[in-house]
Parts: sequence; structure tokens; C-alpha cells
Amino acid sequence: MNLELNDKVVVVTGASRGIGRAIALGMAAEGARVVAVARDKTALDKLVTEARARSKKDAVAVGADLSQLAEVERVVEEARRAGGGRIDVLVNNAGAIRGGGFLDMPDAQWLNDWSLKLMGYIRMARAVFPIMKAQGGGRIVNVVGAAARNPTATYLPGGAANAALVNFTKGLADLGAECGILVTAVSPAATRTERWDQLMEQQAKAAGKTVDEMRATAQAPYKLGRIATPEDIADVVCFLASARASFITGICITVDGGATRGVYA
Ligand code: NAP
Repeated sequence: MNLELNDKVVVVTGASRGIGRAIALGMAAEGARVVAVARDKTALDKLVTEARARSKKDAVAVGADLSQLAEVERVVEEARRAGGGRIDVLVNNAGAIRGGGFLDMPDAQWLNDWSLKLMGYIRMARAVFPIMKAQGGGRIVNVVGAAARNPTATYLPGGAANAALVNFTKGLADLGAECGILVTAVSPAATRTERWDQLMEQQAKAAGKTVDEMRATAQAPYKLGRIATPEDIADVVCFLASARASFITGICITVDGGATRGVYA
């Protein structure tokens, strides 16, 4: 299958590790020109070297803290310049919402974590939208955790932000449809990354369990006998960004190995 991602300018946020890194490398394997964004410039530079080797195209690392509006605007300007005026695909993926007990969680934690995962996605989409509109279209793919539809008392900021982003994805897709911008979301369930390990530690503490107990409880619904790899998620993101998904917009695809109960999820 030809995804027609060759030469496309693809911005991936949170590309220094985990799911974002796998997406950036997946796009590079399809010949895309990757613009990789995160704070850890050393990790990004390493990724960019790997991406160039795969794509045989240029790839660019942009170090930035995406919880800040000014940084978002700088990133989009640098990406646009690197792409010769184009941004074909935006993958919103950078997120670091912490788990914890509701009554112990300070106000600042909610605001801080939402400024990246929620406002970071919204601001990036708002900044690339006029560029995509002017060039006649584009793709925005939001990585939105399955916590959107699966509330957990020890991960309320994550559940609420992700639920908002599913709604945002659908509403923005209506606006984008008028100008050829398709907006979709991919919803990973548990995925083996550093973040997953941190979440298990935070949630175990809040629930008064050991990390092993928490992990066993969280992984029990996965009938395939494993949780997702970052590449499982990256493959679906690449597909949605591709020419082979030209009639798909406004939806959120769950990638959970069948773990979610309910046939409409
Ligand atoms: P991860 O391994 O912790 O990676 C998170 C990425 O976000 C890193 O590249 C990190 O890079 C970047 N990031 C964090 N804070 C940032 C900031 N202020 N500005 C710019 N970049 C920032 O996480 P992951 O597991 O791959 O998760 C990726 C996305 O998938 C997240 O949005 C997460 O909510 C979602 N998700 C994950 C899972 C899971 O089980 N792992 C499940 C559902 C959804 P730097 O530290 O270098 O900035």
C-alpha cells in the first residue's frame, strides 16, 4: 500500500521518546520530512539522525516547551520555514498528565498538566490551521488516551483532558472539512513507554497498592496477553495521515487490543 507520505512535511510533537518517537520514525520510513518537537534536544538530535537514515530526506529537531503559547508559535514558524512554507501533517502527541488522588492534587497540577496536553494540542492546531488552509489541505492527528472514555478516580485530569480532546477533534473536523483539512484522533490504551511505568507508580500510590498489583490490575483486560507497543500506535497514526485515509475525518480510533468493553467504543 502506498501511503503517499513521501516528501510530506510532518510535525510530530513529543517525538523525543515513546509513542511520538515511533510515529516520527514510522513517518520517516514512508519518506516524510519529519519536524520533531520536544524539550530534550539531545534525544531529538539522535532521533533526527535515525529519521534521516530511514527517509533519505531532511529531518529537523525543534527543542521547545509546548506548554507555553509563545513556544508553540515559534515551533510552527520554524516548522513552516523548514518545510519550505508547507506543513502537511501535524501529529499532536506531547503529553505528560500525572495521576494521583483527587483530593490530594493541587490546583497547579491540573493547570500545569492541561497547559501541555489540552492547550498544547489546541494551540498547535490553531497555529497550523491557516497554513494548511492556504496550501489547500492537510491532516491533524491527535493522540488522545483511552482514558477519555474510561474514567479512573486516580487519573481524573487525564480522563477529562482526553474527553475534551475527542470533542475538539470532532468539532475541528467540521471546520477543517471546508478547506481539505482532515482531523482525526488515535486513542491508545496502555502502551509500553516510560510514561506508562510512571503512571503505574503514581496510580499505585494513590490507590494504596504495590506497583506490581497496580500493573496486574491495569493489564488484566488485555486478552492478547500484552499491552501496546509504540509502533502499534504509530502505524495507525501514519495510516490516518496518509492518502489512504482520505474519507476519514472527525473520528477517534481506539487501539487497545480489544480491551475496551462496549461495542460502540
Ligand atoms: P512519554 O514516553 O512520556 O513521552 C512524552 C513525550 O512528550 C516526550 O517526547 C516528551 O519529551 C514530550 N513532552 C513532555 N513534556 C513536554 C513539554 N512540556 N513540551 C514539549 N514536549 C513535551 O509518553 P508516551 O507514553 O509516549 O505518550 C505520548 C502520548 O500518548 C501522550 O500524550 C500520552 O498522554 C498518550 N498516551 C499514552 C499512553 C501510554 O500508555 N503510554 C496511553 C494513552 C495515551 P521531552 O521530555 O523531551 O519534552
